[in-house]
Amino acid sequence: MFEPVHAGEARVYTCGPTVYNYPHIGNMRAYVFADVLGRTLSWKGYKLTHVINITDVGHLTDDADAGEDKMEKMAAQQAQSIWDIAEHYKQAYWADVKALNIRQPAQWTVATDYVPQMIEFAKGIAERHCYELESGLYFDVSTVADYGRLARANTEEGEGRIEAVEGKRNAADFAIWRKTPPGETRQMEWDSPWGKGAPGWHLECSVMSGEVLGFPFDIHTGGIDHREIHHPNEIAQNQAHCCTNGLDDPRNSGARIWMHNNFLVERSGKMSKSSGEFLRLQLLIDRGYHPLAYRLMCLQAHYRSELEFSWEGLGAALTRLKRMVIQIEKLKERAAAGQGGKFDVQKYLSAFDEAISADLNTPEALAVLELVLGVKAIPPADALSVIEKIDSVLGLDLLSVIRDDLRIQPKDRMHIDAKFIDDRLGHRRQLRSLGQYEEADEVRDELNRDGILIMDGDPLGWEWKLG
Ligand code: AMP
Ligand code: ZN
Repeated sequence: MFEPVHAGEARVYTCGPTVYNYPHIGNMRAYVFADVLGRTLSWKGYKLTHVINITDVGHLTDDADAGEDKMEKMAAQQAQSIWDIAEHYKQAYWADVKALNIRQPAQWTVATDYVPQMIEFAKGIAERHCYELESGLYFDVSTVADYGRLARANTEEGEGRIEAVEGKRNAADFAIWRKTPPGETRQMEWDSPWGKGAPGWHLECSVMSGEVLGFPFDIHTGGIDHREIHHPNEIAQNQAHCCTNGLDDPRNSGARIWMHNNFLVERSGKMSKSSGEFLRLQLLIDRGYHPLAYRLMCLQAHYRSELEFSWEGLGAALTRLKRMVIQIEKLKERAAAGQGGKFDVQKYLSAFDEAISADLNTPEALAVLELVLGVKAIPPADALSVIEKIDSVLGLDLLSVIRDDLRIQPKDRMHIDAKFIDDRLGHRRQLRSLGQYEEADEVRDELNRDGILIMDGDPLGWEWKLG
């Protein structure tokens, strides 16, 4: 049961992308999940304030506080300004957000816009909770109660790779300010009481979430990998910032609730950005799949379950979406023909509400939607209004997408002229109705030679597809 911090409101912060590269479709699963969460809170009547951040500085190649800054590394590789890189990949991310029908949050916070506030925050906790080393200002995790409870991490054991920084008091201590090494200049650096340098990634999210939403706020989201390091570190900083005593009070953790989506996985490792051609949404689109088929694929799994990507799975989701859209087109036709009647649709809305309220059970919610689509007794106008309400949460854009949008159209086959094909098919039908089967078969063979397959008797009513 969700109890908001501020009556009638829901304040949500989502850890956003590090804009050093294109997002892969696994990253986008995290934002589809956060979007469904936000839409559900709106459905429940809360006034939603959703913030997603853009990390354009400070995220190291290793979450556990070692390695180079991801942005600096990419800028050096591509011999470009970091600011240009950040802008390019931010725009690419926003294009995916739009294609997946993810609602615009109330605010996008960009890390480099908040550096003065980050320095203030760090100054406030430095004396009691931090220590300085040559490489930066470090947070001492033993100064807060119950560090890592989110991950149930064992800070004693630590991991070999974390101890790369000499002088750290605890293996899990992390840099909240990273000094620019002597004799070097970074493209992005700021003056601070600890010398020129850049903020640490964990500090950014603590500061941006607190600045915009105020501590405590309701829900903080991110992928399941953040449960291990990034979010425990944010919590530790928030605890240090929010109180001087009684550090174990959960009200001091920043957010009341921390929610994590599980990963999208792919067997051949194409999800990894270091693998060359990785799975970007644009690759799915180039292969002819409508991006909302991927959104549906995400909704078919519960956000806490791992989801395996496969092209077959994506194809199945596309077919399911097509079925829904075709049924909705029929409902629209019946509604336009003035078909009316009386029916109590409340039970369907209640069933949907029950499903989505059970920790965002989207697979069950989809089943309710399909139930509504399948019950012929529901008058079409009522069915369409229920679908519109349900889709305000699922975000599949069901009332706008049309059948033709969902035809598989690979980029390299874009020259195909659908009107020409329809004309030829019309001609073939005419020939067949006149009993001129040989001529009709010739038309079919001609189209076949151009790679267009005729689908006589297709259950979804498709007349042709690309071979
Ligand atoms: P990043 O840009 O690396 O900071 O990641 C952006 C978001 O995607 C974070 O919330 C990650 O936890 C999440 N994420 C990363 N990989 C995956 C994946 N394979 N499946 C789902 N979420 C992911
Ligand atoms: Zn974050």
